[in-house]
Amino acid sequence: MTETTTSSSERPNLPMQGVPQPRREEVLNLPRVHISSHPVMAHKLTAMRDKNTQPPEFYRLVKEIGALLAYEATETLALERVEIETPMRPMIGQRLAGGIGVTPILRAGLGLAEGFREVIPEVQIWHLGLRRDEQTLQAMEYYNQLPHRVDLQVCYAVDPMLATGGSAIDAINVLKRRGIPRLCYVGIIAAPYGLLKLSQTHPDIDIYIAALDESLNDVGYILPGLGDAGDRQFGTL
Ligand code: URA
Repeated sequence: MTETTTSSSERPNLPMQGVPQPRREEVLNLPRVHISSHPVMAHKLTAMRDKNTQPPEFYRLVKEIGALLAYEATETLALERVEIETPMRPMIGQRLAGGIGVTPILRAGLGLAEGFREVIPEVQIWHLGLRRDEQTLQAMEYYNQLPHRVDLQVCYAVDPMLATGGSAIDAINVLKRRGIPRLCYVGIIAAPYGLLKLSQTHPDIDIYIAALDESLNDVGYILPGLGDAGDRQFGTL
């Protein structure tokens, strides 16, 4: 039998072609997956998806959605008691226990991280560069600015689009090696395929998203989605 070999330059770049994908209804009730039902989120998301929305407005919306997601994703954070004095008298107040980390997956996660900072200015931002190999859709690490000393109660990996799940899974693997007690993933739009992959690979993390879309196209973009979240934030269309 003669084998036909195809050089990589001739190979069609359609990594999701023919790959079975779960339906939306099949992943709607996964454990530890939180899909926002807030009407303000839905309103901002629609403005963001619109193809006529230009980069400055798009980036502003990513930040605002990041702030709303931060509010939802920090609902169960631990507090510690602290003695303070108001202008009237002493009292016992509460403050967030331990540090809070946010890891934007470069570059598309930057706008979401800014949204988190608006809600909690004290967050530590740990940049992590992961790039998708367009042929295999595997995530490759090219930049890692995580601190040596870790004293966090939680770290949020943030990336707007949970498509095939490759970068999200890799980012959580990197963070798990740092021994952080609690990890979460925060994204704007998820495809059923990536959501299922992430949730099955890392069943011990919480996943917060603003919307669950229908599917991935042959090149791994989310439908209906919003296009390329990095290009639309930074004007590199
Ligand atoms: N990354 C994007 O920016 N958009 C998608 O639809 C999928 C991955």
